[in-house]
Amino acid sequence: MSDTSPSPAYVDSSLPVLPGSPLAASVLSSAILEALADAVIVYDAVGRVVGGNPAAVDLIGLDLPGRRKALAAPIGEREAGAELLTLQGEPLPRDEWPAVRVLRGEALTGEHTVDLLTHTVAGQERILNVSGAPLLDSGGEMVGAVCAARDITARKQLEYQLAERAAELETIFATQVEGVVLIAADGHIVRMNEAQQRLLAARGIEPTARIETWAQQNPPCDAAGQVVPRERLVYYRALHGETVTGEQALELYHRIPEGGDLVLRISGAPVRDPQGHIVGVVLTSYDVTQQRLLERQRLDIMRVVVHDLNNPVSALRLYVQMQQRRLAQGQPPLLPGDQLLSQMDYGLARMQRLLDDLRVATKVELGTLDVQRTRHDVAALCREEAAAQQAVTGRAVQVQTPPQPVWVEVDAERIGQVIANLLTNALKYSPPDRPVYVTVGTADGMARVVVRDEGPGIPSHEQQHLFEQFHRVAGIETQDGSGGLGLGLYISKAIVTQHDGEMGVESAVGHGSTFWFNLPLSTST
Ligand code: ADP
Repeated sequence: MSDTSPSPAYVDSSLPVLPGSPLAASVLSSAILEALADAVIVYDAVGRVVGGNPAAVDLIGLDLPGRRKALAAPIGEREAGAELLTLQGEPLPRDEWPAVRVLRGEALTGEHTVDLLTHTVAGQERILNVSGAPLLDSGGEMVGAVCAARDITARKQLEYQLAERAAELETIFATQVEGVVLIAADGHIVRMNEAQQRLLAARGIEPTARIETWAQQNPPCDAAGQVVPRERLVYYRALHGETVTGEQALELYHRIPEGGDLVLRISGAPVRDPQGHIVGVVLTSYDVTQQRLLERQRLDIMRVVVHDLNNPVSALRLYVQMQQRRLAQGQPPLLPGDQLLSQMDYGLARMQRLLDDLRVATKVELGTLDVQRTRHDVAALCREEAAAQQAVTGRAVQVQTPPQPVWVEVDAERIGQVIANLLTNALKYSPPDRPVYVTVGTADGMARVVVRDEGPGIPSHEQQHLFEQFHRVAGIETQDGSGGLGLGLYISKAIVTQHDGEMGVESAVGHGSTFWFNLPLSTST
């Protein structure tokens, strides 16, 4: 307890020899107590300090006359100072002072020992673990108490530091965006953080107690859909001492019940005990689904753009080349001039639409979509678009509009694009022999345009995603196999919203689809 040479034990020889035993002297006489690092303090029946071993002399200042005097007072009368504190730094009520408790008859041993905070006479903070027992005379009468205080400052500080580290790690573990799972060497899942639980919930996977069950129930696949053999799995490799990070991280594809894949990038490392034995594995899962989806969409877009531009361009070039050849050979043209021009115009219009979609989508993305509003009859816009589509496709488009104009303040070109998109979709996704219906009406100060088809219908869980950029419903094919970019509805909704209107869909698989939008009616005359 002291840096200097040990103090001699203190025995208050002025006190009367207590009945049955010369109390302090008898307790403290042992050489073991002399050498003991724990402070041992002896009290008489009223709690006066009657002795202490050298460690106690240093701790409570028994060699200082002032302290000695204070401590010689009965414990109940001793001035309650701040010398005994709880671990939280609050003064310990006198009733709970170890010596008072012992003198009440309690034995402070085993789990009943008390941890408390105090200061040495030199002013150093100490955390003590105090035990104590009553001293009984040969007749069983309590004649005093003995308390032993062990300095546990260093141990407690270490515990505090460990607890702090543990709390820091716990916070990192809990708040990490990556999923983290701790697996014991026997495959038992010890812990997983919230991010991991969310990843599992997204896949509809119930957490299992063992990693093998988990892998059996949800076989991890590679990008090609092949089940990844056990030896390549990060868990297995880490269990065999490999640290799998960075470039080596493994991407696993998990089918999710509602369709699509969840793509996880898995890293991992072995956990070792102090002897270096592998006792478990930590796996980190990073959700890269969105990244992979975007990459695939980018490729799809390229493919569709190339395909959609290639077809009209090739057809146009073919016509032009054939025409040139015939002209060179002095033969009459393949097609009369006006027909050739209208074929060319059709091809160019297709290309123009594709480019328009890409241009408007970019503007929507950048937030720079502007609309030039003027007063238009939305019913007339619908009739014009229906007639144009009917002419191109030869399909029946039945239009129902009120007898009087339905005036709205709109950018006619853009709203025309919306009507064209809905009509094109209705026509291209429904069988050629089924008509498409366009209805225009008004209600609650709004114009309402409804485009209905008798096509395949759209599953309800897909409907909320239809208006997202590049979203295409798997399994719904166009009648001519031409595909699409998944931009039409995204653009259309953005245009309608820009006009303070709304857009939506009602559909059921096997019962066709009804797309609608509304726009505020013009209030000017
Ligand atoms: P695109 O038709 O170019 O793919 P859209 O944004 O217009 O893009 O449509 C998105 C997806 O919504 C389509 O790919 C298709 O799967 C689905 N869809 C749109 N309209 C209909 C419809 N009338 N009937 C069935 N599915 C439709």
